Amino acid sequence: MGGGEADGAAALAGVRTQAWICNAWVDARDGQTFATTNPATGETIAEIARCGEAEVDGAVRAAQAAMASPAWRGMDPHARSTRLFRLADLIEQNADELAALETADNGKTWFESRRIDVPSAVATFRYFAGMADKVFGRTIPVSGPWLNYTLREPVGVVGCITPWNFPLNLASWKVAPALACGNAVVLKPAEQTPLTALRLGELAAEAGFPGGAFQVVPGLGPEAGTALVTHPGVDAISFTGSTETGKRIARGASANLTKVSLELGGKSPNIIFADADVKAAIRGATMGIFYGKGEVCAAGSRILVERSIYDDVVAALAERAAGMTPGDPMEKTTRLGAIVSETQLERVLGYIEAGKRDGARLVAGGNRVDRPGNFVEATVFADVTNDMTIAREEIFGPVAAVIPFEDTADAVRIANDTLYGLASGVWTRDIGKAHTVAAALQAGTVWINGYNGYDPGSPFGGYKESGYGRDLGVDATIEKYTQVKSVWVALDG
Ligand code: ADP
Repeated sequence: MGGGEADGAAALAGVRTQAWICNAWVDARDGQTFATTNPATGETIAEIARCGEAEVDGAVRAAQAAMASPAWRGMDPHARSTRLFRLADLIEQNADELAALETADNGKTWFESRRIDVPSAVATFRYFAGMADKVFGRTIPVSGPWLNYTLREPVGVVGCITPWNFPLNLASWKVAPALACGNAVVLKPAEQTPLTALRLGELAAEAGFPGGAFQVVPGLGPEAGTALVTHPGVDAISFTGSTETGKRIARGASANLTKVSLELGGKSPNIIFADADVKAAIRGATMGIFYGKGEVCAAGSRILVERSIYDDVVAALAERAAGMTPGDPMEKTTRLGAIVSETQLERVLGYIEAGKRDGARLVAGGNRVDRPGNFVEATVFADVTNDMTIAREEIFGPVAAVIPFEDTADAVRIANDTLYGLASGVWTRDIGKAHTVAAALQAGTVWINGYNGYDPGSPFGGYKESGYGRDLGVDATIEKYTQVKSVWVALDG
């Protein structure tokens, strides 16, 4: 399959709509459903099982049973590894279908789904497949006649709650390491985009994961999400989403002292110094904000530009934005797709109004596109001050706020003057300045002379209100998805 509407139709014809519990499809107990829509057309793709407390309870019980079973708890780590590799292969073999589902559900371009999201999920499963049989404890020298060693054990049942911007990819960030470490997983995908997660459940069974190792419970945040967070049988919650929901989850999980890790919102600064390769910086800043329609937690939504190059950079950013015409996401050449939902579109348009009201200068875009579906132009505001709403609040849409700065200290001060601390970018040819600023930025990720670099081996997560805990990487994974047991053996006994 090479992409295009016909392929999308084929993928959608076989779309899975039920919950995936203990390797079987199940309806919500009372037959309730919710609609998932195609944001590029406004049409309903399918009615999906609307899981609530009962289904989540069933899924958690299945996971608990798996954690007590020889089939899963007793599976040796090499066998876990083999299955994860197999699942990666299956994702790869079904890449066209998964990409078509993702694009139909989310509105992101075929280019992004097929060339970035699905291959990244494959890479993530392979990376953690390789880790599954390399998680181990230590022998520790202690005083007295004792042998002391540690065991690295799975946490137990892990609840994963994912957002709608990278549905398959962010599921893979959580599901792959959790399974690699031997946990049983219950995944609650975002209600806007449940399709690829459901297919992933089925592929996991095909890869040889026994019933109970991995379930998928589609549903609404306050229903299925809350039920998962507050279920006493859930040992850890791994969440990616908004800061507001993250705070609610942390409060909900505290009742049972459920372990929580949160990867939340951002208002990431992308700092362009006058001594940068300015052309590359402009390219990087454009991609940094408009990739994924700006519906990216790490979006470089505040573009900080040194005063001496400010006018030129603003003009170039405006020109590039004007060239990014939103279009049919299934077209291979489209680079700016549809906003995920009408609600989100209204939010984005509201922020554009706020920018105008606060006195920022609109230099590109600013309008909803006159066609069916949720399309908005790539938008650039210049002369933004860091106290304006569009510089403080996460928009989660294709809206750039360009802010001038005077010198390095000024840039760092503005960059850090935010509640968030997820990501950041620095563009300069001065190597000393690059590293000094990287150290000074309060953010979980700093990209120097680039943006949006990711790898399953490199930890990703936030400082400040962008959350705590990390996805990806060896250390963060072991910290998050295992617990340590200290075993003492008396040698003189
Ligand atoms: P948005 O507001 O953009 O939809 P959220 O952070 O609310 O982003 O959503 C991310 C994920 O969190 C989704 O899967 C959503 O269903 C889930 N969610 C939303 N509210 C809650 C909640 N109260 N408890 C648990 N999960 C929730």
